[in-house]
Amino acid sequence: MADARTPILRLANVEKRYGDTLILDRLSLEVPAGQRLAIIGPSGSGKSTILRLIKGLEPFQAGAIEVAGEPLRPPRSASWFARRPAARSHMVGMVFQHFNLFPHMTALGNVAEALARVLGLTRRDAEARARDLLAQVGLGGKEASYPRELSGGQQQRVAIARALAMRPQVMLFDEVTSALDPELVGEVLGVIRTLSRESGMTMLLVTHEMGFAREIADRVLFMEKGRIVEDAAPSQLFTAPQSERTRAFLRAVLER
Ligand code: ADP
Repeated sequence: MADARTPILRLANVEKRYGDTLILDRLSLEVPAGQRLAIIGPSGSGKSTILRLIKGLEPFQAGAIEVAGEPLRPPRSASWFARRPAARSHMVGMVFQHFNLFPHMTALGNVAEALARVLGLTRRDAEARARDLLAQVGLGGKEASYPRELSGGQQQRVAIARALAMRPQVMLFDEVTSALDPELVGEVLGVIRTLSRESGMTMLLVTHEMGFAREIADRVLFMEKGRIVEDAAPSQLFTAPQSERTRAFLRAVLER
């Protein structure tokens, strides 16, 4: 069982391969509850893979992942999801780059669906809670809109509300602004900023927004080739990186 000293998230020597290609190389990481961890690094370094494994979307070949002291077993088959204890699967929420909303459901429906179907709330209670969540992400008044009627920034805010609906202990944000037009990035970052200030929720953010990472994170990981190259406070990592690789990466992205 978890106690106050148990990290909310623990990865120990996690190895992930696609075929013969090593994607995560015995990666270990402990995240205390309430920490906001930004993960940065070049494309293909394994950042999204870490999040997908923590969410239980993919198997891994070796090592262990624990959420609140409970081991996560890699899915062996599609039916694994059906058998997975409900409480466990809801501990981790995830928001994706491409929103992944149900196109045939309204904003309200997208948020209420899992509350009714998975948590078993009555349709009325699910919709009341969904309404509150949409208001929380600044979308009061958009309940009846379908995804195609919303901007990318609004769709992403619906996706955040949907992930929050399950009251997860850990939220994973996977490059959630990368698919947005530049003028819509701010509204999505604003919602995450408010959430981080007000909720104390543990967050892992894979991001290319260095300014945002620096502002919001308590801790930053720089990844390369499936390994953590540097793990430091943002004040350290962004101003006095220890590794030449981190320095070169930051120079390249900040000059862009
Ligand atoms: P990042 O988030 O750092 O850009 P990813 O975690 O998405 O990197 O990907 C890490 C590596 O895994 C990349 O080389 C990518 O090509 C590879 N990869 C990701 N998904 C798959 C897949 N389904 N099959 C094969 N290789 C994959």
